[in-house]
Amino acid sequence: MKIAVIGGGINGLSSAWQLALAGHKVSLFERDSLMQATSAASSKLLHGGLRYLEQGEFRLVREALQERRWWLKKAPQLTRRLPILYPLYHDSRRARWQLKIGLWLYDSFAGRKGIGRHRWLTAQQALRCSPNLKAEGLQGAYLFFDGQMDDQKLGMWMAEQCSKAGVQLFEHSPVKQVAADAKVLLHSGWQQFDRVVNVAGPWSQQLLQHSGLMQQPLDLVRGSHLLLPPIGRYGHMLEVPGEARIVFVLPYQDKTLLGTTEVRQHLDEAIRCSAAERDYLLNVYNHYFLPTCTKDSVLADFAGVRPLLSGSANASKASREYQLNWQGQVLTVSGGKWTTARALGKQVTAQVDQSV
Ligand SMILES: Cc1cc2nc3c(=O)[nH]c(=O)nc-3n(C[C@H](O)[C@H](O)[C@H](O)COP(=O)(O)OP(=O)(O)OC[C@H]3O[C@@H](n4cnc5c(N)ncnc54)[C@H](O)[C@@H]3O)c2cc1C
Repeated sequence: MKIAVIGGGINGLSSAWQLALAGHKVSLFERDSLMQATSAASSKLLHGGLRYLEQGEFRLVREALQERRWWLKKAPQLTRRLPILYPLYHDSRRARWQLKIGLWLYDSFAGRKGIGRHRWLTAQQALRCSPNLKAEGLQGAYLFFDGQMDDQKLGMWMAEQCSKAGVQLFEHSPVKQVAADAKVLLHSGWQQFDRVVNVAGPWSQQLLQHSGLMQQPLDLVRGSHLLLPPIGRYGHMLEVPGEARIVFVLPYQDKTLLGTTEVRQHLDEAIRCSAAERDYLLNVYNHYFLPTCTKDSVLADFAGVRPLLSGSANASKASREYQLNWQGQVLTVSGGKWTTARALGKQVTAQVDQSV
């Protein structure tokens, strides 16, 4: 079949690749350049998402852990195994036994070919791994492993796989409208396809709206990151004081990546880190590390928008699952994670094949 994929983020590229591998003739349309939006503004983690276990998202975590293994194996030059510390203090929100259960499940879901099993470190051992952590009140830390990537480069690697599989990639080609009978309106006029896959991330519902098609409710939530000077080779998963949220402090390209926030976003606002988000992130950092960082320590910042499936008042607790919805011959993808992009692409392909 002749298929149009709209959106050149990781989900659009992975869907296009899987569709082409299944024998379809695929054209992908990206309004700007490939891999410049949400998919290049992530926390750079290939992970199952330890915190989603608390929300009972077992299917998602298990799938993401399998996908984590796939990325690490297939693109070793752009990915790596990252040791992460979860320090526990006297006043930590989660108890040691709770974390133990979560990490045991996490390792079990990763399977026998996982990337390393968790273990408990005493306070002294944790401080040896991460000397900048505050020692006062530290009881110890769990050490576990996840994957880390260069999201932009890994996405461009996926674009290469697309080209090799015969996908035609069109950059600077905004789709203005879609029609339920699989027509796509480009600058040059309407083009007919057999199926259209709308993977425009946070903009997927806006495209449906401009096309006069029914929309799915999505919550748009901005997440910002700061880049700070380096503090070591271990990542950290940290509880935000007084909140159920967690924040990551990770080594990344000779710097420290600190994120993220959760702030409601409208598509007509600029997607950028606000001063309030910067202060919030620095406060969390300074709660855990010495020497402290000020706004002058910030080397750079960036932000992206999560399109989350609606239904949770709290963005932290909103599902990271994806959903696929047909309207005529148009399939719209909502939600999802970077790590699970290939699995999503397989689902898209299965749905397209079943629709014949
Ligand atoms: C702050 C933050 C941190 C995250 N961290 C992680 C993480 O560490 N690990 C993880 O697994 N996941 C993470 N995620 C989730 C992950 O980044 C996203 O799920 C994923 O990048 C979404 O990809 P996408 O292709 O759907 O969207 P996008 O990357 O936004 O791509 C959509 C594309 O569609 C294009 N487009 C829009 N409208 C049109 C149109 N009309 N015509 C043509 N093109 C159009 C846009 O230009 C864009 O390039 C994070 C998300 C955020 C926001």
